[in-house]
Amino acid sequence: MKKALLVLIVLLCAVNAGYAQSNIYVGKVVGKGKTSGKMVALTFDDGPSKTYTPQVLAVLKKYNIKATFFMCGEQVTYYPELVKQVSSEGHEIANHSFSHPNLYKYKDKSKRGAVLAAEVVKTNALLEKLVMIKPAYFRAPYNYRDTETVKAINDLGLIYVGWTFSVRDWEKPAPEAMVNMFNQNLIPGTILLMHDGGGNRTNTIAALPGIIESAQKKGYRFVTLGEILK
Ligand SMILES: [Zn+2]
Repeated sequence: MKKALLVLIVLLCAVNAGYAQSNIYVGKVVGKGKTSGKMVALTFDDGPSKTYTPQVLAVLKKYNIKATFFMCGEQVTYYPELVKQVSSEGHEIANHSFSHPNLYKYKDKSKRGAVLAAEVVKTNALLEKLVMIKPAYFRAPYNYRDTETVKAINDLGLIYVGWTFSVRDWEKPAPEAMVNMFNQNLIPGTILLMHDGGGNRTNTIAALPGIIESAQKKGYRFVTLGEILK
């Protein structure tokens, strides 16, 4: 009996240790602002895009709100003027890798962190040179994450960011459907995932005014990622 109890205690300790350890890095992936205030951060991935980024910027300007753009370095090299515009209009710029690699396809798991870290460094250097900002936030392509990769990015001094929910805009739902999805899920501290590049974003742009107006009606304020994570 005593022996059984001892085994149980040892097992429980092992489970707890494992849990605590896995939490070390999970805690450094941020998916939501800690605020209880009615704040929401719009985030746009995969740009800048020649077609869609200017349209997103026009809507944001119309409503006088700021958002955060997770840019791919490769796109930055194609459209540097758009990067400058995003920055000069007061939006936040964050890092979404250089070439948008699919790390799930890298068979050697031990290399994934290094591959991603190199892309992140390259993109941050480009942005620093272009607009004199050093992004503090990183979001992984395809939401890839594993403990070593998150650590590799954290070691560069960047915060690994996910999202609270999306309106699945990559599936191109009707704009009204996206507004409904947003309304049903909105909570204080929401980090909303959307896209301004990487595909046809016509519906995303059409949904934006409805998303903004419905949140404002509920008393929400739109802020940048940096503000919502303060
Ligand atoms: Zn992406």
